[in-house]
Amino acid sequence: MSQSQVIVGGTLLDGTGADPVKGAMVVIENGEIVFAGKESARGLPRDAARIDASGASILPGLMDVHVHISLNAPADLVAEVVGRPLGQVAFEVAANLRQTVAAGVTTIRTVSDLAHLDIAARDAIRKGIAIGPRIHPCGKGLTTTGGHGQLLPCWLCQSHGELSEVVDGVDAIRRAVRLQVQAGAAWIKLFQTGGVVDPEGRIDAEEFTPSEFAAAVETAHTAGLPVAVHAHNRAGILRSIAEGCRSIEHGMHFDEECAAAARAKGAYYVPTLTVMNRIIRHGAQAGIPDYMIKNVRERLTKHHQYVKHAFDIGVGLACGTDAGSLLTPHGSAGREVAHFVDCGLSVPQAVSAATLVSARMLKAEDKVGSLAGGKRGDAIVVEGDVMADVRRLEVAGNMRAVMVDGRVVARAGHALS
Ligand SMILES: [Zn+2]
Repeated sequence: MSQSQVIVGGTLLDGTGADPVKGAMVVIENGEIVFAGKESARGLPRDAARIDASGASILPGLMDVHVHISLNAPADLVAEVVGRPLGQVAFEVAANLRQTVAAGVTTIRTVSDLAHLDIAARDAIRKGIAIGPRIHPCGKGLTTTGGHGQLLPCWLCQSHGELSEVVDGVDAIRRAVRLQVQAGAAWIKLFQTGGVVDPEGRIDAEEFTPSEFAAAVETAHTAGLPVAVHAHNRAGILRSIAEGCRSIEHGMHFDEECAAAARAKGAYYVPTLTVMNRIIRHGAQAGIPDYMIKNVRERLTKHHQYVKHAFDIGVGLACGTDAGSLLTPHGSAGREVAHFVDCGLSVPQAVSAATLVSARMLKAEDKVGSLAGGKRGDAIVVEGDVMADVRRLEVAGNMRAVMVDGRVVARAGHALS
């Protein structure tokens, strides 16, 4: 097979937020992009395998930086965690990875998964024994006893634990961070506030004490790992930013003060609009308790306004969907892009959030995140004009081709074997 590929004839959205380029061409040699721009600026390379992009849009592979790859978008998270033997979960992870790339998502960050399967998935993909996106795994998130990340009630436990590591106390939390490092995690995830699935106003409370939280962040940073924090309320968000955490997850109360602090410290905002929208749209029919739907509904309008304000003042806005969690399918990054547009971003800006900005958050922008010379050949060819209808990105079947490292891994919504 030829070592060179050329994607030719479509409209290029390169991930930088720049205006689209019609009649574009992307040339990839040995997995690396050597040219991306107007076709007329350079002749067609000879002997290159040709991917026809006429009538289509060419984008960098999408990124989803808030994924639970070991969950399958259930309506009942507790049943999901206790209802499956671990071996079955492992096979489902393999299927979820394929569903992810089939939908044009070529990089994910996992933010708490069962039994370190996210780390195993990363390594299996690197070895070429599984198909899937690039993975930046957190391993198990850290939560307090009774915290948001503890899904199982106190009378239930299982041999491989649950989605999160349940820890209390400064020494315990240091050790829990180190266990993730030992397992091969690339990030540390902390649950610092309640969430929309918690009853009784817990979304407005914090969970780790100040000394526990600081110890966790210090231990992670000592090991060279960035920290992602589940934080909805202002106190949790501001604490996370002040301690130097790199990303704020969900952040339904990410107000002007939070945005100013994030910009000053270079923290990223991952608002996960998709899961909130899924809960509102499908929650009642799926049987999700009323208080969860109410938790989201009460905050949704402000959440969208906070996203636009944060973007406007220059906070890095990254694309995370909470795929795998409540009613949110794997491969949903295109939905998040559309929600960014609903918030008031232009299509190139929204695509950039889901590509180059997310890559910067992951410190991977030297390799991926935009279609430019010197980067890896992670690209998608999407049927039709994404500028005219951004919702094309929501449908896996619209992905004419999905490439990772210059290799086609999916076509028309199906991962290749
Ligand atoms: Zn999540």
